[in-house]
Amino acid sequence: MEKYNFEDIKDRVVVITGSGRGIGKSTAECFASYGAKVVISDMDADVCEQTTAELKSAGCDVIGVVANITKEEDVAKLMKAPIDKWGKIDCLVNNAGITKDTLFIRMKLEQWRLVQEVIVTGTYLCCKEAVNYMRKLRTGNIINISSFVRNGNVGQVNYSSAKAALIGLTRTLAKELGSMGIRANCVAPGFIETRMTDTVPEKMVEDLKKMISLKRMGLPKDVANAILFLSSDMSSYITGETLEVNGGL
Ligand code: NAP
Repeated sequence: MEKYNFEDIKDRVVVITGSGRGIGKSTAECFASYGAKVVISDMDADVCEQTTAELKSAGCDVIGVVANITKEEDVAKLMKAPIDKWGKIDCLVNNAGITKDTLFIRMKLEQWRLVQEVIVTGTYLCCKEAVNYMRKLRTGNIINISSFVRNGNVGQVNYSSAKAALIGLTRTLAKELGSMGIRANCVAPGFIETRMTDTVPEKMVEDLKKMISLKRMGLPKDVANAILFLSSDMSSYITGETLEVNGGL
């Protein structure tokens, strides 16, 4: 009988942007726990170093690369590091993201641009650089982190439009790169307990929980598990899709 499990993840090389904390860190731990080789990356050098050291001391095969994904030279350095060490990139998780929330009528062009720059342009740059390596080996996997609020959310016109853009980007990559053995999918988290949500007022959190079928906020590992699934052979015939991880919001 055929085996059904995540064993293929062992020794896969995975680059995770914004993995010094939050969902990215949990995803790094998840992959590493299955024996993957992981590139931890963060803009903040201290956070990057700390998370890398934590995983290393747990016996994981990881390297840390400080990179701002909006800078082409940083992205080139980020993708070259696993090539130099392990000779390939099997999976890219475009997780880094920011919010600059305010109502549309108050939003400044700078707030609009910054969010688009990190989420859309940063993801584009990372895909571009990683695919250059992936296509040579005719295999690869890209997971982009979108969001439930791509459907629209008060105070987040910059963020929701950027997260919606990732769906179009992902579906186009799936169409263009499928014949090269490269898959591309999105994960769209709902309301997850991280730094990004820790300033949401208590009353709003309680109201939101009422709208979630499972009546709780998600944990970073809830998202990490979905990312793992989409990057493993367990999802080998899935591409161009968006997997919702929102507890039934
Ligand atoms: P988080 O704890 O704030 O983590 C975001 C990470 O992205 C941090 O490591 C941050 O680096 C990094 N980052 C930001 N800008 C960057 C840049 N220009 N270059 C490189 N790294 C950069 O938030 P999170 O909740 O884990 O978010 C992870 C992803 O999930 C984001 O794309 C977010 O939009 C998405 N998401 C989150 C939720 C939620 O409810 N939390 C829901 C839906 C989607 P620093 O440490 O240097 O700041």
